[in-house]
Amino acid sequence: MAVSITQALDIIYKNSAVVSAEILPIEMALGRVMSEDSIATFDLPRFDNSAMDGYAVKCVDAGTTVTSSDVIYAGDDPTITLEATQAIKIMTGAPIPQGCEAVLPIENVTVNDTQITLPDDIQKNGHIRRAGEDIKSGTVYLNKGEKVTAYAIALLASQGVTHLKVSRQIKVAVFGTGDELRPHFEKIAPHQLYNSNTPMFLSRAKELGCEAQYIGSSSDTMESLETAIRSALNADIIITSGGVSMGDRDFTKDAFANLGMTLHFDKVDIKPGKPTAFGTIGETVIINLPGNPLASMVNYEIFVRAAIRKMSGMKACYHSTITTEMKDDFSLRAGKYTVRLGDFDGNTFMPFKKQLPGMLSPLKAANAMLITLPEVSLLEKSKVVKIIPISWELASNTQEDFFTH
Ligand code: AMP
Ligand code: MG
Repeated sequence: MAVSITQALDIIYKNSAVVSAEILPIEMALGRVMSEDSIATFDLPRFDNSAMDGYAVKCVDAGTTVTSSDVIYAGDDPTITLEATQAIKIMTGAPIPQGCEAVLPIENVTVNDTQITLPDDIQKNGHIRRAGEDIKSGTVYLNKGEKVTAYAIALLASQGVTHLKVSRQIKVAVFGTGDELRPHFEKIAPHQLYNSNTPMFLSRAKELGCEAQYIGSSSDTMESLETAIRSALNADIIITSGGVSMGDRDFTKDAFANLGMTLHFDKVDIKPGKPTAFGTIGETVIINLPGNPLASMVNYEIFVRAAIRKMSGMKACYHSTITTEMKDDFSLRAGKYTVRLGDFDGNTFMPFKKQLPGMLSPLKAANAMLITLPEVSLLEKSKVVKIIPISWELASNTQEDFFTH
């Protein structure tokens, strides 16, 4: 019995356990997932400081000429107090002296040696960055389950954090199955085929932050499959392709069953990729994808990616969509939950005209996909659709007008 896409995802989320945590220097934690909240131990900024190069002044002195003899630089620890009829020259980032009510930027005053003429209107607190206005001591500034980005590392460093508790990297083991398959670095006969799925799965796992182990490929015998599985069992996730449909030598699931796999589902109501199967051996998650490259890629994006997110401890482990419009009319065969790969150009989405399960060329071209309900047979131009991003970097071959008018 085939499960629905939603049921399949529920089963995956339920049976994919978050991996253990480790402590890393923050410089090594990029791309990992936080295992605990980070709480600020002090205010940011730490102390009231000047936002401009200028003069520390009092509001009562507006419109008068005051005397300035002292200077406070960034990095100083000033002990002087500002009195009325005085100004203290101050640099950006320098601590505000006692008694200062505002900083006037240097371009807003008239300087004549030590005599500084102030404008008529001085805004209280102007150009002063207050302690804690960015991050208050005691608040959570990074959450458990968030990915560590360069900007998260900036926050950690600003708090003087040296080490961080994160999920350990997920180990993914990958192999293909099929007597026809040969590795890409060998010469092949015309009736043979290069194994493109294994390098694809491996590289995608790395793109998604995993450590990936190349097992290569197995032939279509029980012995060969069991050997490949045994060498993959130390992984958190085993991803295979091929040997899961109705062929006489489709033994992948049987071989996993012989080695103790609990099968959670063996078919999904999805086109392409119906024979996708999911099981577990202990804490190891197994996803058997179909051999056809496009079918395997689509189901990798939907199911393997979900498992990776969940196991790495990401709170945002669910697929999310971008709402956009169809670029043009697109007809498809109704009756199944159908995945179509296509291109989102920043304004509209267009599925590729030609998409067959065994194809490879659409994979690289696609930056997003949509999944239609069985009753959908036409997506009209301008119809609002939901797309799931695949690889996302919006950039252009030409200089665009990127300003908001
Ligand atoms: P299967 O699911 O084993 O019946 O394979 C379906 C189709 O996908 C066949 O045409 C296979 O030759 C092809 N195929 C299977 N595994 C791979 C692979 N690792 N790389 C490229 N094509 C594959
Ligand atoms: Mg096969």
